[in-house]
Amino acid sequence: MLKIKNRNYMNNIFNKIINHKIKSNILYQDNIVTAFKDINPKAPIHILIVSNKLIPTINELKNEKDKMIIGHMIIIAVKLAKKQKIEKSGYRLIINCNKNAGQEIYHLHIHLLGGKKLGKIIN
Ligand code: 5GP
Repeated sequence: MLKIKNRNYMNNIFNKIINHKIKSNILYQDNIVTAFKDINPKAPIHILIVSNKLIPTINELKNEKDKMIIGHMIIIAVKLAKKQKIEKSGYRLIINCNKNAGQEIYHLHIHLLGGKKLGKIIN
């Protein structure tokens, strides 16, 4: 079991969703990623694209296989944005890393947000 700073990453909620141990609204799944709606949406469209492999944060991406995983996650995020028909109106992809970014779940994921004017976060 992977334990870092007393956090038990094997018990994280995303693992349970990926493995169909709890009910969720899965929109897409393959052998690398799982995508589902955020339980507490911050926009009309708020989808989480999660790596099936337990990678706690983006800091842990290290090798060619991980490069393929993060690339695939972005490609699936774009596909989902197109499926939601927000590719022209626009959307935002976010990866939070650790405390200062407010990361809540230590299992690598991309937020796909859209369906409204999101405003600038960097000016
Ligand atoms: P983070 O802050 O780690 O980048 O984002 C974690 C996200 O996971 C939050 O937006 C939160 O609303 C979402 N979340 C937390 N628990 C659950 C859950 O049980 N189901 C779903 N679908 N989303 C969750």
